[in-house]
Amino acid sequence: MTTQIKHFIDGKYVDGTSGKFSPVYNPSTGEQSGNTPLATAAEVGDAIASSQAAFPGWAATSPITRARVMFKYKQLVEDNIEELAALLASEHGKVHSDAKGSIIRGLEVVEFACGIPHLLKGEFSDNVSSGIDMYSMRKPLGVVSGITPFNFPAMVPMWMFAVAIACGNTFVLKPSEKDPSLPLRLAELMLEAGAPKGVLNVINGDKLAVDTLLDDTRVKAISFVGSTPIARYVYAKAADAGKRVQAMGGAKNHMVIMPDADMEKAADALIGAGYGSAGERCMAISVAVAVGDAGDQLAELLAPRVRALKVGPSAADGDMGPLVTAEHLAKVKGYVDLGIEEGANLVVDGRDLSLQGYENGFYMGGCLFDNVTTDMRIYKEEIFGPVLSMVRAKDFGEAIKMVDDHEFGNGTTIFTRNGDAARAFSNNVEVGMVGVNVPIPVPLAFHSFGGWKASAFGDHNQHGPEGVRFYTKVKTVTSRWPDSIKAGAEFVMPTHK
Ligand code: NAD
Repeated sequence: MTTQIKHFIDGKYVDGTSGKFSPVYNPSTGEQSGNTPLATAAEVGDAIASSQAAFPGWAATSPITRARVMFKYKQLVEDNIEELAALLASEHGKVHSDAKGSIIRGLEVVEFACGIPHLLKGEFSDNVSSGIDMYSMRKPLGVVSGITPFNFPAMVPMWMFAVAIACGNTFVLKPSEKDPSLPLRLAELMLEAGAPKGVLNVINGDKLAVDTLLDDTRVKAISFVGSTPIARYVYAKAADAGKRVQAMGGAKNHMVIMPDADMEKAADALIGAGYGSAGERCMAISVAVAVGDAGDQLAELLAPRVRALKVGPSAADGDMGPLVTAEHLAKVKGYVDLGIEEGANLVVDGRDLSLQGYENGFYMGGCLFDNVTTDMRIYKEEIFGPVLSMVRAKDFGEAIKMVDDHEFGNGTTIFTRNGDAARAFSNNVEVGMVGVNVPIPVPLAFHSFGGWKASAFGDHNQHGPEGVRFYTKVKTVTSRWPDSIKAGAEFVMPTHK
């Protein structure tokens, strides 16, 4: 049975009216489970109008009351986390524990947003000139919108809307059409937590919905997370329309393994970071840069670990589940074929994996390439699947140059015991998020998330203090009272006295 998925507008579920749908699958079985309605421009307009109507009241609600909604929301998500993780996994394919972990990482941003009274405190200068005080405050922008990818249907929307809503904005979310059921449920829970209707709307759709959000002058800011070509498009169009925009794109994250690293630990880290969530993470490690004689040792340690990966349906909670769709599976396998053609050495081939009882699921096993070179497409392009490429570098200088020269700059990490190498790497590498003996350096909620180069366009990172800056504008007031007002007009540029 396929579910007719809806939109969530003005506090209720509404049917799509376009007659156009995008299929949703259960990747574990390969069966179609739902139909996502693709919104018309008028339906997107309805969602924006609802958020527009909710904005003045919500912006005028005290930050402490907004924080209390966030506290309640956190509790509700926690109370329902098993059900939410199962729903997420049923459309995405992540294993249950990983799905739950991703919701918890989103909830940490909700926890951060609970501190909004403190975060919005502003600045005050007493007596900047005789009898004159000056203060700055951060005001919400109005209706803001988030457009999110399939791979984190809870975490990425929460990165955005928790901060935006706590700051006093109202939010229109356009989630991925591949797994929209969890984002819809998250909006329902926001209403239950006490946010008035229209504070969080969810509109499902494709390019038409996104273009409508980008064009509509009532939408003041756009936060986008997805692939680089669409991020470039969204950034350019939103900026052209005079909107505030942050657009996070794709990635190719390198782990540099120095010869002095603990090779067993580095191999374990590579396996988790390369194959967790079937490699469908923007912070997944997809390139291992083995320096000096680290290469031969690593190759020996990695191959058996990749062969031993437990692949299975979401509910079985193995090491990794299926890919999101048959189309994406075919694309990832196509890259493995390409790597062979390009001359890389396919040490472990997971392309033919078939699971008894789940023959139609979108599975593949882990693949490991060695002797990949920087001119190959499998090195240059984002594959977004369980495929790890090992390149060899003769020394630290060559390794860091590879990372720097790559088009993407989302995350990177170095495994070493050498403090000097670690420090030089962290300080100099051209990448936004860096790990030292930490394979996936995703910043916690109270710091901010964002890459460099072709991994992010626009300014201000996601969540943390940067998120508060993105979703607010500064107003500075200069004020004096009658006793301090001097008689007569002043014609010179005021200087403080
Ligand atoms: P995607 O770019 O295909 O889709 C992202 C969003 O854009 C979806 O909501 C989709 O409906 C919409 N969209 C798709 N085509 C569009 C078009 N032509 N015009 C306007 N909107 C369009 O990305 P995806 O496949 O859902 O997600 C995977 C990608 O996201 C990977 O590249 C991954 O690296 C990236 N990602 C990046 C980060 C980060 O923070 N840098 C985080 C998660 C995922």
